[in-house]
Amino acid sequence: MSHNFANRMQSVPRSFIREILKVTQDPTVISFAGGLPNPALFPSEALAEAARTVIADHGGETLQYSTTEGHPPLREWIAARYRERDGLDVSADDIMITTGSQQALDLMAKVLIDPGDTIVMESPGYLGAIQAFSMFEPKYETVNVTADGPDLDALERALAKNPKLFYAVTSFQNPSGLTYSDEKRQAVAEMLKGTDTVFAEDNPYGDLRFAGERQRPLMAYRPEKSLLLGTFSKIAAPGFRIGWVVADPDLRHKLVTAKQAADLHTSTVSQRIVHRWLEDNDLDEHIAKICDCYGTQCNAMLTAADEFFPEEVTLTRAEGGMFLWAEMPEGCSSMKLFDLAIKEKVAFVPGNPFYVDGRDANTLRLNYTNAVPETITEGMKRLGKCMKDYIAS
Ligand code: PMP
Repeated sequence: MSHNFANRMQSVPRSFIREILKVTQDPTVISFAGGLPNPALFPSEALAEAARTVIADHGGETLQYSTTEGHPPLREWIAARYRERDGLDVSADDIMITTGSQQALDLMAKVLIDPGDTIVMESPGYLGAIQAFSMFEPKYETVNVTADGPDLDALERALAKNPKLFYAVTSFQNPSGLTYSDEKRQAVAEMLKGTDTVFAEDNPYGDLRFAGERQRPLMAYRPEKSLLLGTFSKIAAPGFRIGWVVADPDLRHKLVTAKQAADLHTSTVSQRIVHRWLEDNDLDEHIAKICDCYGTQCNAMLTAADEFFPEEVTLTRAEGGMFLWAEMPEGCSSMKLFDLAIKEKVAFVPGNPFYVDGRDANTLRLNYTNAVPETITEGMKRLGKCMKDYIAS
């Protein structure tokens, strides 16, 4: 049976990662393919206690419909954290709670992008954003991301085309693990000044820093015409689907209208549980535990790469987040490597879906947060052997 689908569905890539996850269901496969936080770190007991309290003691409000903008005390909690840690001039009014930060991507595309509008994406870029934006049929300008942030010449060329939007993951990017330096943050802010381009900064991983110095969001340097997206998915638990967007009143009003049409509001239950948990627990202590664990796992992956990967393969050296990004020599295909790797029972995500031009990439994304160090070492040994065999063939 076939249906008359809307044109927009033709330009949306399917999530290749979801397809790969099917292959990695086999328990004998060591998978670096997922992008999931480590479930052993979910604060289950404290969250269960928070859930009991808000439902048993405040069921009337917790189980009720609520405002589209979100639970006011939760919005104030988020705003206070930005004020205290980043010196951002943000109040609860500037924040709208979203159903995961993924919803913020959909809503901002909905309110900003008409078919054919130009938007600027990082290359490689976050697959979920490529999917969300492609629904609205934009034209993409791409900017390569290097070790310390975007290629500024390419960004200048892209901005000259007067794009509606520049979307960036400024810290420990998914997929590459790369982070904008403070100098690049300031330089990008400077380039954006005076333009009409909305800058959307997506920062789900910034708190997961296990080495180096904490950085201020780029929004600190360019507050006007900017959106800042955050989420509790990586620092509490993704199952709640609680994210948020910081936006000026003009943008926020439009986002609120779009959200009303999408889902009325984000789950009141989730919002109130997360807020109760934040009130009764020390988030920074919890984040420190996550960072400690991810730092050890990342280190295991880097050490194994030094030992087992062929010399021609380069690897990013992340100071936080959940991913490393490997690059094989020019002309190699990470899809071909993937087929070899699955035979050797190790999986990763080939770089292809992270490029809007759908190229056959020589790059691959490696996630280190879901295996113990010994398993990471064994998986990297298998992968290193596949790379050597492939490059030699
Ligand atoms: N942005 C980026 C860069 C991500 O990596 C993710 C999660 N994979 C999201 C947004 C969406 O996260 P959530 O909807 O769980 O907040």
